[in-house]
Amino acid sequence: MTPTMTQGLTETLNAFEIAQKQFADAADILGLDEGVRKKLRTPERCLTVAIPTRMDDGRLEVFIGHRVQHNTTRGPSKGGIRFHPNVTLDEVKALASWMTWKCATVGIPYGGAKGGITCNPKEMSQGELERMTRRYASEISLIIGPEKDIPAPDVYTNAQTMAWIMDTYSMNKGYAVPGVVTGKPLALGGSLGRNEATAQGCVYIIEEAAKKLGIDLKTATAVIQGYGNAGSIAAYLLHDLGVKIIAVSDSRGGILNTQGFDPRKVLEFKNQTGSVVGFPGTESISNEEILNLKCDVLVPAALENCITLKNAVKINAKIVAEAANGPTTPGADEILFDRKIVVLPDILANAGGVTVSYFEWVQNVQELYWDIEDVNSRLKKIMTRSFNDVYAIHKDKRINMRKAAYVLAVGRVAEAFKLRGLFP
Ligand code: GLU
Repeated sequence: MTPTMTQGLTETLNAFEIAQKQFADAADILGLDEGVRKKLRTPERCLTVAIPTRMDDGRLEVFIGHRVQHNTTRGPSKGGIRFHPNVTLDEVKALASWMTWKCATVGIPYGGAKGGITCNPKEMSQGELERMTRRYASEISLIIGPEKDIPAPDVYTNAQTMAWIMDTYSMNKGYAVPGVVTGKPLALGGSLGRNEATAQGCVYIIEEAAKKLGIDLKTATAVIQGYGNAGSIAAYLLHDLGVKIIAVSDSRGGILNTQGFDPRKVLEFKNQTGSVVGFPGTESISNEEILNLKCDVLVPAALENCITLKNAVKINAKIVAEAANGPTTPGADEILFDRKIVVLPDILANAGGVTVSYFEWVQNVQELYWDIEDVNSRLKKIMTRSFNDVYAIHKDKRINMRKAAYVLAVGRVAEAFKLRGLFP
């Protein structure tokens, strides 16, 4: 597809419609029958809850939250909880289905779920966040649990959020249940390496892709869009491998220095000032410009729909490694594939997070804790094997890496569903 052919074309930015299309493409390639498709594309359970919360000024606010369990065929459902002003039920449904396919891509024994609260955590105090989180945890505690559905952090939630959920759930049970959530603080049964896991897994996938493409990471350049948990840690892990980090951004804007800079110092600066913008020795660039910079590896590590039909022709990277969920639209995917830009899809590239969540849950259930070498060597093994599984389908079927990952994942869930059959 040439750039001009994209002009005038429009596409949906509704995450659930995008997720349905990605699923349908794989179902077509696999030749799944309509009944199985209906089963696998329909979320099993969607719970929407009102969350009355006392604000610091005495006012009563009511937030709306969701927990969606998309599929539990391969095991309990698993997936994070996000706090963001743009959270909608459709977005949570999309994110839940992506978790199903992500867990299946890397072969861990979980289905997919997601939760979210429509709120602006940046404008809330710790006390307000705690009260909102605990009431939400209480409302969804009917459907979560270590054997059924296990939440974790996502956008603007963290280990502290998980500690509040673990405590709320445990107080209602009458005993400590660490396995109800993952991404907990280490002191509450969290796993070593979980905080770095999304980024570490993504870097393992980038290393495998670079080998296939003949890119030497020691002389490579990278651009990171989004400087939260995934983006900032990916930046310094790549930097540790010798990759030159030339630009990074957060919600307030981007910074550039083609000579490269130290991403750990940028993180310290962001922790002090609230943004990467203004980091000494860099020039400011916009959030649109950062995506068009010439580099070897572009890591979108923020939200959905940042690479679309509108800007895909301007992407100037060799590899796009999706640390975020859903950063590339289906229209953009086709343009990037035609332009021979390799997209390492979210359900593979950011699966390190849920993989170490799985390790955390295994440690909680067994009450036996691993050292960091164990965690990272097992993570590397799973990420490398999964990359090679997806790469083989990509080569064999001549489809892009996303379609290949979906073919693998949807095929695994469909097989499990056929074996289990229907009850009643
Ligand atoms: N929120 C992360 C994701 O999107 C992690 C989910 C988990 O650990 O359960 O993959």
